[in-house]
Amino acid sequence: MVAEKTLEDIPGVGPAIAEKLREAGYNDLLAIAVASPGDLAERCEIGEKKAMDIIEGAKLCADIGGFETGSEILERRKEIVKLTTGSKAFDELLAGGLESQSIVEFFGEFGSSKTQVCFQLAVNATMPEERGGLDSDVIIIDSENTFRPERIVQMATYLGLDPDATLARIHVARAFNSQHQILLVEKAMELAQTMKVRLMIVDSLTSHFRAEYVGRGTLAERQQVLNRHMHDLLNFATLNNAVIAVTNQVAAKPDAFFGDPTRPIGGHIVGHTATFRIYLRKGKAGKRVARLIDSPNLPEGEAVFMVTEDGIKD
Ligand code: ADP
Ligand code: MG
Repeated sequence: MVAEKTLEDIPGVGPAIAEKLREAGYNDLLAIAVASPGDLAERCEIGEKKAMDIIEGAKLCADIGGFETGSEILERRKEIVKLTTGSKAFDELLAGGLESQSIVEFFGEFGSSKTQVCFQLAVNATMPEERGGLDSDVIIIDSENTFRPERIVQMATYLGLDPDATLARIHVARAFNSQHQILLVEKAMELAQTMKVRLMIVDSLTSHFRAEYVGRGTLAERQQVLNRHMHDLLNFATLNNAVIAVTNQVAAKPDAFFGDPTRPIGGHIVGHTATFRIYLRKGKAGKRVARLIDSPNLPEGEAVFMVTEDGIKD
């Protein structure tokens, strides 16, 4: 159905506009159907009205935007793959690992091992599916400049992987501010057209937003922009059958807006869009505790794991 139709099947789209669309990275109907009119107009240099018509046409052609039967949804969910965390207990908490087509949020205080978990997921994703990997390349959006290739080498070596080959499959971009971070998701979409990307990491999702939108009056705007960003990420997850892992630092001291130190930044917005939320904290004797907070189909619970030189372990 969707796969057989091309951009030229959209009413009002001839070869010239189809070419503009493809040049702008809109390579299939679904990508157009989920685009925002403003973005599409700007990137293809066409009017906004025309962009809206194209998007509506693509929605009809791609047969999305309507209701689906339970069996259709089940069919799509059959494509879901799972990514191991490297810890049995942690995987069990998640009924086998992190699910594709979803956003998984890791939140916790500074030093709670959010970034270490991300490194491990990146390495694991490059492994074959038989080993709990996704046999895929990885995109990391690094907003805190904490990516350390040396850690990737350590973890890959421990797993018996070729460290250089592993590093070559991990594509990292620094995000310098929140707008840049949003743009990088578009870039990631383009990159994912040229290679299989089943894992995208945003570490941290919220730090730029937190630093830039300061003061009570900016809160609504921050949430709105963050909301759009989350939906871009969810689109990426759906279009690429990918896992999206994001981190979110909670303030050790009470936050001026939210009060409660264990409440993550972004509050309801991030929480409602993320499919899984995992609270990380330090335990005794170098242990780390992961608590599943919110899941559509799994019970709440906790898992204990370790962060070692070799990576995440039981
Ligand atoms: P967060 O991103 O939540 O702020 P990190 O993921 O950076 O936290 O976690 C930092 C912790 O990871 C350190 O406190 C340390 O305990 C652990 N860690 C980092 N590197 C290593 C290593 N090479 N060996 C063992 N533990 C490490
Ligand atoms: Mg970190």
